[in-house]
Amino acid sequence: MKKETKQLICVNCPKGCRITVTMEGEKAVEVTGYSCENGKNYAMQESVCPMRILTTTVKITQSTLRVLPVMSEKEIPLHVWKQAMEEVRKITVQAPVSIGQVIKEDLCGTGVRLIASRSMKKV
Ligand code: SF4
Repeated sequence: MKKETKQLICVNCPKGCRITVTMEGEKAVEVTGYSCENGKNYAMQESVCPMRILTTTVKITQSTLRVLPVMSEKEIPLHVWKQAMEEVRKITVQAPVSIGQVIKEDLCGTGVRLIASRSMKKV
């Protein structure tokens, strides 16, 4: 199988190591340039299945604001973001809402919950 390399800068600490990952298809077969195991694991994850915390807003009623900031409780795969945003766009919540309140269970089949990132009072 054809090999290709990916260059990454590790973002886990200020040192910013330049890491090279050799891929064979979807598999990371060699990682070089890291200075610690955290960096190696980050580079492998980032090359095979990049993950991010989703931060966005949902519609809210009976509040002074029209939207409520929300976030995924954990990182979710980047490749499901578009589908996750389609789910999020359909959500409307009603005030009051407390910070950390679960807005949606199992976002996009990831098993990760979408939670409120701030509280909003009812008007
Ligand atoms: S590989 Fe380790 S030392 Fe290098 S930037 Fe990443 S976390 Fe920092």
